[in-house]
Amino acid sequence: MQIDVITLFPQMFDAVREFGITRVALEKGLVCLGCYNPRDYTDDNYRTVDDRPYGGGPGMVMMSEPLAKCIDAVREQNSGPLICLSPQGEKLDQKLVAELAESSNIALLCGRYEGIDERILESRVDREISIGDYVVAGGEFPAMVVVEAIARLVPGVLGNASSAAEDSFTDGLLDCPHYTRPEVFEGSEVPSVLLSGNHERIMHWRLKQSLGRTWTRRPDLIRGRQLDEIEQRLLKEFQLEQHDD
Ligand code: SAM
Repeated sequence: MQIDVITLFPQMFDAVREFGITRVALEKGLVCLGCYNPRDYTDDNYRTVDDRPYGGGPGMVMMSEPLAKCIDAVREQNSGPLICLSPQGEKLDQKLVAELAESSNIALLCGRYEGIDERILESRVDREISIGDYVVAGGEFPAMVVVEAIARLVPGVLGNASSAAEDSFTDGLLDCPHYTRPEVFEGSEVPSVLLSGNHERIMHWRLKQSLGRTWTRRPDLIRGRQLDEIEQRLLKEFQLEQHDD
């Protein structure tokens, strides 16, 4: 998969190149990451990429001309959707990540300052994506969130493919709790079922915890889901156990 990022701060993406699962994805050649700086597409000595907003007001706006040239250069080798990171975009969720991971190419446009000249959004951007209802200073961290979330879904990137399948949101539920050694930590024991070696009981316990957590923490997800008979029974058990505690 080819991911090209348009950013005034290409060095920030060294973090993606050098660490964790994105590094693995790049080393294995499963994801290729290109960075393009709009400053390289300016004509003046100061390599100006921003200017004051028409109509007045605070801050600066990213200028259309260098951005247009930069985007057009990217489009010569990347014909996938051009996505602008924006707090005004559709909210990123696992379903959208999975949809993006299906593309063989995508390009990500990172804003800075007050944002990007609207005419670029109208003429060149295919969609806008937000990482949540809050504002950060630039599109770089949001773009890195998108890159990492996508990379872990690219086949071959994760050591164990089923780990992504069992993550929160993949099947509409939150993940179950996890434990590792030691068996007792500060007097708190690992649930005995996990030490039982009984795979069916473990599977049911995990599903029960997933259902219970989702019901407790994200009731909106449970409301939007048709529970089968086993799931209904396990959720009831979880609710009764909470009641007993
Ligand atoms: N004035 C803009 C607004 O209120 O909609 C915010 C501009 S913000 C300071 C600068 C850039 O950061 C944006 O152009 C966008 O690329 C990025 N950004 C900020 N918050 C974001 C979010 N929640 N999701 C995605 N990108 C975001």
